Amino acid sequence: MNLAVWVERNGVRLADSTALARGENVHANWATFAARAASGAAGMRNTFGLAPGDRVAIVMANAPEYLEALFAIWHAGLVAVPVNARLHRSEIEYILDASQARLLITDEDHSADAQTLLESTSSLAHVILAPSSEWNRLTSTSPIPIVARRSEDPAWLFFTSGTTGRPKGATLTHRNLAMMVLSYYSDIGPVDPSDSILHAAPISHGSGMYGLAHIARGAATVIPESGGVDGAEVAALIQRWPGISFFAAPTMVKRLAGDPAISAADLSNLNTIIYGGAPMYLADLTKALDVFGPRLAQIYGQGESPMTITALGKADHADRSHPRWQERMQSVGAPFVGVEVRIVDEQGNAVPAGEIGEVVVRGDVVMAGYWNQPEATADALRNGWLHTGDVGSMEADGYLTLRDRSKDLIISGGMNIYPREIEEVLLGHNGVEAISVVGRPDPEWGESVVAFVVADPEQPATAEDLEQTCLDHIARYKRPKEYRFVESLPTNNYGKVLKRELRDQLLAER
Ligand code: AMP
Repeated sequence: MNLAVWVERNGVRLADSTALARGENVHANWATFAARAASGAAGMRNTFGLAPGDRVAIVMANAPEYLEALFAIWHAGLVAVPVNARLHRSEIEYILDASQARLLITDEDHSADAQTLLESTSSLAHVILAPSSEWNRLTSTSPIPIVARRSEDPAWLFFTSGTTGRPKGATLTHRNLAMMVLSYYSDIGPVDPSDSILHAAPISHGSGMYGLAHIARGAATVIPESGGVDGAEVAALIQRWPGISFFAAPTMVKRLAGDPAISAADLSNLNTIIYGGAPMYLADLTKALDVFGPRLAQIYGQGESPMTITALGKADHADRSHPRWQERMQSVGAPFVGVEVRIVDEQGNAVPAGEIGEVVVRGDVVMAGYWNQPEATADALRNGWLHTGDVGSMEADGYLTLRDRSKDLIISGGMNIYPREIEEVLLGHNGVEAISVVGRPDPEWGESVVAFVVADPEQPATAEDLEQTCLDHIARYKRPKEYRFVESLPTNNYGKVLKRELRDQLLAER
C-alpha cells in the first residue's frame, strides 16, 4: 500500500473541502492538493530524473507546501527525509549524506545554505524552493498515477533528534505509518473530515506524523502563520477551525496554559491536545487540565516506533475521582492496541508487574531498522523486539510508568536514583520554574546528584527550601548534593533538555 492514496482519494470524495490552510485562510481544497501531489510526483520523476526508492529531503519550516511535497514524494514512489529545519547546516549536511538524498526541497530561509549543501553533499543533485514559481510549475505539470509501493517499502526516514551522538535514520515503512494512523483512531480518538489539525510544532517530528491521521480522514491541516507557538494566534485559530487538535511538547502545553489569550478564548472548537516526547510533570499537567478541560491525551513513543507505544487517553485525564488518578497522570498510559509492550531485565526476560526494567516493543508500527546502519539496527532490534533505551515499570493495572532513559539513571552508593522522581518533587515547589537533575562522577559514591534549577523570578526558591522539600517527600539518599541556579536549561531543537550538556559541564569542571 502507498500512503499517497489518502490524498488522491480525498481529492475525489471531498474535492471542495478545505485540505490545507495557512492561518485563517484556505490554501488548497482537496482537489487542488491531490492535483499538486500527482503533478509534483511527475515533476520529481521527469524533471529531476528520480527513480522509485530515491530519497528526497525536506528542510522547511512548517508550510502548506511541506505537505504537498511529502505527498508528491510518496505519489512518485520516493522516500521522504523530513529534516528538522532548525538544525545547523552541518547537521543537515550529515543527514543528507547519511540518507544519500538526491533532491532537497527547501524554503527561502534556507536557500543560501542549500546552495552550499549542493556543492558539499555528494549525492545531492537538485534543490528546489517551495513556495516559488518553480514549485508552482512543478506541481502543475501533467500528473502521473501513484507508483505502486509494497507495505514494507520505506516511506519516511526519521532522523532521531539526537540528544546523544549522531542522529540515526529510523526507516519507517508505509505499513509502519498506516499502523500509526490506525492506532491514533483506536487509542486517541476518531477523526472526521469536519475536524482539523494545527501544526504548532515541527512537521518533521511528532506533529507531522500525527497530522497523517488527519490527512487520511480528510480533516483540514492548519499551519500557523507565525510558524511557531504564539498564544494569541493559537487562540484565534482554535476559534476559527472546528474540531481542532494539535500536538505539543510538555513545555509548550505549560506555556499555553499560562497564556492569558488562551484563558480568555472560547475553547469549544478544541478537540484534543496531544502531548508527549518528554516528561509532563504533574504540577504542570494539573494546571493545563484546569485551563483546557479534559482535552489532553498523552502519548509515549519514539522515532523508532513512531509516536505509538503507550497512550494516556482523555478519559483517563477526566477521571479525577479515580483512587490512582495521580499515579496515572504520572504514567505514560497503557499500550496502544496494535503493539506489544514488555519490561525486561538485562538478559531480555520479562520482569513482574511493578519492577523496573527496559521498555521493549513489538508490532507493525516498529521501524524496519536504521538506514544503512546494520550494527545499530542489530543493537536496537533484538529477537524481534525494539529496545527503546527507556526504563520503566508496568504497574499491576497495566499502566506504564517511565523512569528515565537508561543513560540518565544515576547510581549513587550502589542505589539507583531516577532523576525524574526528584524533578517531580522539586517542580511541586512554587519557586521553581524548570529543573533538570543529573549525576556527577563522585570518588566516594560513584555518582552524586546535582539539580540545575531555573528559579521562578517572582518568588525564587532557595537551596534550603529545596532541601526541605526533598526531606519532606523522598528518601534522604536521593537528595541533590548541590543545587545550581541557572538562567535556563540547554534544550535541543525539539525543546528536550540536553542532560548530556549538563553532565559535560560538570565533567569539564573537574
Ligand atoms: P524521539 O525519538 O526524538 O521522539 O524521542 C523519543 C524519546 O522521548 C523516548 O524514547 C522517551 O525517552 C521520550 N519520550 C517520548 N514520549 C514521552 C512521554 N510521554 N513521557 C516521557 N518521555 C517521553
